Amino acid sequence: MLEIVISSRNKEKKRELKSLLKGLKIKVLDLNDFPAAPKVEEKGKTFEENAATKALTVARFTKRLTLADDSGLEVEALGGRPGVYSARFAGENATYEVNNRKLLRALERIPNPKRKAKFVCVIAIADKNKLVGLVRGECIGRITFEPKGRNGFGYDPVFFSPKYNKTFAQLSSKEKNSVSHRGRALKKAKVLIQGCL
Ligand code: IMP
Repeated sequence: MLEIVISSRNKEKKRELKSLLKGLKIKVLDLNDFPAAPKVEEKGKTFEENAATKALTVARFTKRLTLADDSGLEVEALGGRPGVYSARFAGENATYEVNNRKLLRALERIPNPKRKAKFVCVIAIADKNKLVGLVRGECIGRITFEPKGRNGFGYDPVFFSPKYNKTFAQLSSKEKNSVSHRGRALKKAKVLIQGCL
């Protein structure tokens, strides 16, 4: 059976990606199966650059088909920030809670109609020789005035989904996956993976 390695150390992302990969006839591995895999620094200015580097580095090391996700939140009133810096918006090793607090503070005086935001997820698929492809999924919503809900991770408690009238953190994982940037990107990535089977 074909194996694919998820090139991520983020346990929530891995959980979502694994659940989204269900149904494909492939064995899903992750970096816990390759403890000596090199750590990739996210130095790129775009999600595409970072995803491609993460996928290629790990594919070369593991010699297996590899999937990497680079994702983040773009807030219109902040000119697209935090974008590729979403994980470290409030500094290196900032917790999700601290990042959310910084975001809410930055938007303190911004009224609801101007709180538009977009989650972006770029997935790169690579094999040991080359980048197989890059796909992008996006999801439009709004930043709330306070965190709500306990599910998900990252900015989910402050990201309001107009479709469900709830924050992502108030959705079940099935509901989130059906509209999320990651769910949308993975749908496209599955086509790339199927081309490798
Ligand atoms: P990456 O490891 O550089 O791709 O970091 C992505 C960061 O973007 C995460 O640490 C979260 O802060 C944020 N993020 C990405 N996807 C999601 C999501 O589905 N929900 C909430 N936050 C997310």
